[in-house]
Amino acid sequence: MANNSKMCSLCGKQTRNVVSLDLSGIAIDVCTQCISMCTEISEAYTNATAPKVEEISTDNLSFETLPKPEEIKAVLDAYVVGQEDAKITLSVAVYNHYKRVLSLSGKDEGKKKKGKTSDAKNVNTDDSDIELEKSNVLLLGPTGVGKTLLARTLAKTLSVPFAIADATTLTEAGYVGEDVENILLRLIQAADFDIAKAEKGIIYIDEIDKIARRSENRSITRDVSGEGVQQTLLKILEGTVSNVPPQGGRKHPNQEYIQINTANILFICGGAFDGLTSLIEKRMGKQLIGYGTDIVSQKEKIEKDSYSNATPHDLVKFGMIPELVGRIPVLVALEPLDEEAYVKILNEPKNSLIKQYKKLFALDNIDLEFTDEAIYKIANKAKKMNTGARGLRAIMEKLMLKHMYDAPSNKKLKKLTITADDILDD
Ligand code: ADP
Repeated sequence: MANNSKMCSLCGKQTRNVVSLDLSGIAIDVCTQCISMCTEISEAYTNATAPKVEEISTDNLSFETLPKPEEIKAVLDAYVVGQEDAKITLSVAVYNHYKRVLSLSGKDEGKKKKGKTSDAKNVNTDDSDIELEKSNVLLLGPTGVGKTLLARTLAKTLSVPFAIADATTLTEAGYVGEDVENILLRLIQAADFDIAKAEKGIIYIDEIDKIARRSENRSITRDVSGEGVQQTLLKILEGTVSNVPPQGGRKHPNQEYIQINTANILFICGGAFDGLTSLIEKRMGKQLIGYGTDIVSQKEKIEKDSYSNATPHDLVKFGMIPELVGRIPVLVALEPLDEEAYVKILNEPKNSLIKQYKKLFALDNIDLEFTDEAIYKIANKAKKMNTGARGLRAIMEKLMLKHMYDAPSNKKLKKLTITADDILDD
């Protein structure tokens, strides 16, 4: 039988498992073992040298360093329990925003020309007149399920300026309260007053439902914290050159304003929209009658999923103006949390409450432990409070106060175990 073995150019072994490679005209034979070893080394090198999501800044943003949606989600996973849909939607929204920022700044040009990677090969060079439009996001969900936490966690990881604002205090210009432009000032501050950077930033507006107009019909009395604010916000979301008072606060005729173009700022909004679920249930309930199936069980499911059944029309019924709803095309529902989720929230996130208390006590050289029963009892108590995971902190604060007061003076105390009996029913 003919011997087809060849010598590997790398390790020198004589073997039949060789691949013949053509390296710029020079033919070399490499055995499969060496190929797999080289692949491992190359992967390890790439992972070691690739910048971490946290290390990327607007200045070094490029297609090579761009954090992929999976990487952005991994950071969210470390801090936020569950809420898969919202995490995926936000990761994609942020990734697409980076791509828009890059295509605007023309940093991709060099790469397009060099055609270095497979991505670049797929880029159609005739696409320069195609504008990537932004897709603002609306997070819908009951209170205390992680909307703001998602935004705050994103802020930690982002390489573009990020600001969080609360819509509750906003009123129409000239009335007591905050002007809408102050939201932009926060972003400008987050960008260290670099306006060009701020113009590519992301703003999270919490409690957007608080600026819903009082009724679906136009009211005769002025609704200074409702429709008027929505109209001003709409202009900013659509893209306008806005005049921002540099010191914040009210606009003043003799003041010099900072001008900022809002066309490329990405807006993520969040709100509990109290009462929205009953609007949705009413709408869905009507539709159910026609099916003639088990309406009761269908209705139960609707109640559970109602936020995820929300449509732009429901938001208009709730009191948002249609133009503003139209400018926030991505709706994503956050799920209500169950007891299992509360247990995970207590234990798992990077800075979970239990980890924080353990650290606090460790600083006094005390080893703090919670039994599983105790953790379940806390979760159960929080569920009954109906304030989402926010209730957990209140329960823990009350529970731990006595120990935080006593323990530091008790030099003999080396270990403290919290059991279910320590958690009182009230
Ligand atoms: P909201 O949905 O009302 O914006 P928050 O995000 O402010 O609620 O949540 C309040 C607190 O509850 C957070 O600071 C966090 O400690 C905790 N929490 C809520 N949801 C989650 C979650 N899904 N994972 C981890 N912690 C959560």
